[in-house]
Amino acid sequence: MSVVVAGLGISGTAAARALARRGEHVVVLESAEGERQLAAAAELAPLGVEVRFGEQDDLPEGTSLVVVSPGLRPDHPLAAAAHRAGIEVIGEVELAWRLRDGAGGAPWLAITGTNGKTTVVRMLTAMLTAAGHRALAVGNVGVPIVAAVDGDRAAGGEPAAERGAGPYDVLAVELSSFQLHWSGSLAPLAAVVLNVAPDHLDWHGSIEEYAAAKARIYADARIVIYNADDEWSTTLAAPYRGVGFTLGVPRPGQLGVVEDLLVDRAFTADPAHEAAELASLADVRPFAPHNVANALAAAALARAYGVPPEAVRRGLAEFVPDPHRIAHVATVRGVDYVDDSKATNPHAAAASLAAYRSIVWIAGGLLKGAEVDELVRQAAPRLRGAVLLGADRDRVREALARHAPDVPVVDVSGQDTGVMDRVVTEAAALAAPGDTVLLAPAGASLDMFTSYGARGEAFTAAVHRLAER
Ligand code: ADP
Repeated sequence: MSVVVAGLGISGTAAARALARRGEHVVVLESAEGERQLAAAAELAPLGVEVRFGEQDDLPEGTSLVVVSPGLRPDHPLAAAAHRAGIEVIGEVELAWRLRDGAGGAPWLAITGTNGKTTVVRMLTAMLTAAGHRALAVGNVGVPIVAAVDGDRAAGGEPAAERGAGPYDVLAVELSSFQLHWSGSLAPLAAVVLNVAPDHLDWHGSIEEYAAAKARIYADARIVIYNADDEWSTTLAAPYRGVGFTLGVPRPGQLGVVEDLLVDRAFTADPAHEAAELASLADVRPFAPHNVANALAAAALARAYGVPPEAVRRGLAEFVPDPHRIAHVATVRGVDYVDDSKATNPHAAAASLAAYRSIVWIAGGLLKGAEVDELVRQAAPRLRGAVLLGADRDRVREALARHAPDVPVVDVSGQDTGVMDRVVTEAAALAAPGDTVLLAPAGASLDMFTSYGARGEAFTAAVHRLAER
């Protein structure tokens, strides 16, 4: 009997290693035979892992289990073949969950949502570390979960610790809807759905199916945490006695904001009468309403694990945001330039736009079929101007014409590398001192750049050139 691993990506390679280390016979199926895949195959060969290249629609004889990469579509022929043969299909996350018992069994604090996952995972890890726990951020960020659970250094995990309890006390786990789709039995200590807005609908089919994939995170969680300000999160948590968080004043059983303080009325000895002060709004950096929500979500997960209030505050102080997430690039002639290239969908861009008073908005890219009307309608009163780039810029321009007809719009065509310089120059011309020029594109970057990171770098470099002129 063999276990089939479909896809030789980072998580597939880690899964194959973990299985082979446990003595399983592993066959990896991979359609692309590029340099990276060949290197991964060479690395796995000494472990006895067999890699078969080429398009494959059928499973090898004697397959007992299929482990798929999170990107594999639910209707992929391999998944269909497994289904017909009655063979179980799981993802790398589910595999990690099943292997964790033999590996010390550190509890998981699990996070999903359309936007904010990486930020919350990082804030949470900082809070756990500040409380003296050995914590690691895993999942979509950094290390594959299976490697962390396994203490597999070669695959990015750390070596098993001297203490008997496994390499980590607790894992902060970022889970995408794709990963959750292929995970059936996860039972995290605490879990949160931060928010749900239309995204990746081409993969999931509909918002209902997308939300249902995210809801799996709650099914066997000991403590359900939800965003009381988000309709979908609240709905998905409704069957459970969850702990809500809100930007408003918290009710008993919730975390929220009172004046300029983040407070906990859920994880105290007497939530009906007692509130614990966690931090002040000034501890949240970069300051934006959505980051306050992220801090509250991270605090709720940390508190569920028993982190004391002062470690929540210290964690926020030590938290370092990942690049291209409302990063302040420079102030040039009184105008702030902010890189939120990671705002790759309208929901993220809306959060970003809500954080500034007078904005020259840089938008465009690949909208992936998403609507921008609502986003533009809400932001309209705060827009000084807009500069549009990329494939779907016409759609943004039309929405601006409908909902913000008085806002000047500059359309920058072209795909060449000079585009970002033109974009920034046009934005600078529209801006007045005190304004913010905000790159929050609402679309993916792949029409023009290799990644949202490359788009943010191009913007940053163009702003620095502007400053020198
Ligand atoms: P993810 O890992 O889910 O993509 P990130 O933390 O990397 O989330 O943030 C991605 C982008 O989403 C940010 O650049 C910001 O524009 C936006 N964002 C972050 N947190 C939130 C939130 N709680 N609600 C809405 N948008 C958010």
